[in-house]
Amino acid sequence: MDGYKLCALGEDGKRTVFTVGNVKIGEDFTVIAGPCSVESKEQIELSAALARQAGADILRGGTFKMRTSPYSFQGLGEEGLKLLRDAGEKYSLPVITEVTDTRDVDMVCQYADIIQIGARNMENYALLSEVGKHDVPVLLKRGSDATIEEFLESAEYILKEGNEKVILCERGVKTFGTYTRNTLDLSCVAALKTLTHLPVFADPSHATGRRELVKPMSLAAEMAGCDGLEIEMHPSPDEALSDAQQQLSGPELAELLREVRVTAVFRDGLDLY
Ligand code: PEP
Ligand code: MN
Repeated sequence: MDGYKLCALGEDGKRTVFTVGNVKIGEDFTVIAGPCSVESKEQIELSAALARQAGADILRGGTFKMRTSPYSFQGLGEEGLKLLRDAGEKYSLPVITEVTDTRDVDMVCQYADIIQIGARNMENYALLSEVGKHDVPVLLKRGSDATIEEFLESAEYILKEGNEKVILCERGVKTFGTYTRNTLDLSCVAALKTLTHLPVFADPSHATGRRELVKPMSLAAEMAGCDGLEIEMHPSPDEALSDAQQQLSGPELAELLREVRVTAVFRDGLDLY
């Protein structure tokens, strides 16, 4: 606990809440949706329209992609950030995008309402400290082999620099199975709610890697107590340049959102933690 004393839930039980656009993160159940990658003006505008129509709160889109193979689509870089920003403004959605390099943090902050640190960079301490020096909300994803304590210690690097607007996002960990891309660790979601005052999100898209599992695992994560979800959605999922198998269509996202909103009302009548 000494390793994450700034993140730790205090005896008063007070939780961190901050506003992005129209949502109070940590208080209102929040849904981030959008494509894995920004691919073109048309694709991100259509994604924004579909996200808006489905009732999502925040638009996502990657422009600096951490791909396992250097030959896979790497993202559109700053040009993609401009397209993401414009699409978000057109449909009144705040935007989130990943930063992968300390040298890009200032530039990405000019376009993004929330900065994402990906699973592969959870232990990039220079990057964590750098975003900690900026006044911007940060969504930190759990490394695929990180313990819950290590995850909190990574968040601590951001808080230690003065930035307290941090969201923790469980996105699945490596296990022995191969049917799913990773294993969504719902006990991590539940444990974090008892350990930290920071908002906790879940990403069932990268956790499962399978479109048909995204809705049930979203609802399961919600019932485990998460404060929000990050979901991949693409106007033509099968044609996506990255993560095609796990992206929902617009109508699938809309159906998921309907069930998620009903579940939030039911859940809020319970006293989970
Ligand atoms: C992403 O959300 O775009 C992503 C790459 O996820 P992760 O870092 O969890 O793999
Ligand atoms: Mn992806």
